[in-house]
Amino acid sequence: MPEFPKPQTVRSQRVIAEIRQAAEVCEYCQHRRPDEVHHIRSKGSGGADIRENLIALCGEHHRDAQEHRISPLDLFRITAVREGIPLTQVYQAVGLVLPNEAIEEAPPAPVTEMDQDENSWETDVSVFIQYQQERDDSGWKLAEHATRMRKKYGPNTASKLAAEVNLSAAYLRKLMDAANAFPEEKRDLGLQISHHIEAAQSDRPEYWLQQAAENNWSVREIRQAKKDVNDQRSEDEDLQVQMERLEQQVRKFNEKWETKRNIKAALAFEDAGFRIVKEAV
Ligand SMILES: [Zn+2]
Repeated sequence: MPEFPKPQTVRSQRVIAEIRQAAEVCEYCQHRRPDEVHHIRSKGSGGADIRENLIALCGEHHRDAQEHRISPLDLFRITAVREGIPLTQVYQAVGLVLPNEAIEEAPPAPVTEMDQDENSWETDVSVFIQYQQERDDSGWKLAEHATRMRKKYGPNTASKLAAEVNLSAAYLRKLMDAANAFPEEKRDLGLQISHHIEAAQSDRPEYWLQQAAENNWSVREIRQAKKDVNDQRSEDEDLQVQMERLEQQVRKFNEKWETKRNIKAALAFEDAGFRIVKEAV
């Protein structure tokens, strides 16, 4: 397996100290004394010690941020205002893709397909982790991003990515299959992504999704229905094989009798011949 370089993150105690000293109150609530300088994109996922990524928070809001009760987007908005730069530029500086909700509310510089293509492996992985952490999301963003990554990095992507994001390669492949089988216009918004994943694991994804919608099936019921059809199919195939075997036996049997009939006819002809010769003599 190829080795990927670790992200090069900027470490600077000086910048952290700058942020700490400049803040008289928590930058989130503008109220309590700041307690900690927080990395909005965590150090563990490659977040750098740069001004755009750092925010001084009180104890309570630092905990909230660490436990994802405050979204990174809300915190990046604050640093963008503090630094006097657009939100897109903040996201660029920290190496993350601007989330869709931010694009919808203010489209100053939309993230194009081209920009996404220029992302490094590390950036793509951290975007994936970011989507993973957005708990209210349906999972489609994750699936689509994983599929884009497979197109970009090749068929080994699932196992390489699995090693980084705490999901199994098998599950990642299923996510990719679901995104492939169900582009946005083919999805059923009344069903969950897990229904789509189960339906995609078949040779008729759309059929199974439709069945699930019509019959109000759970994921387990889709699986059971697929299994029933498969069982029926292999039963039919077994019968087919048995039929062919029987037909072959019948054919051989007929051929044998054909031969016997021919021999009998030949003998009878011989007899008749003898009789004619005898009578002539
Ligand atoms: Zn606060």
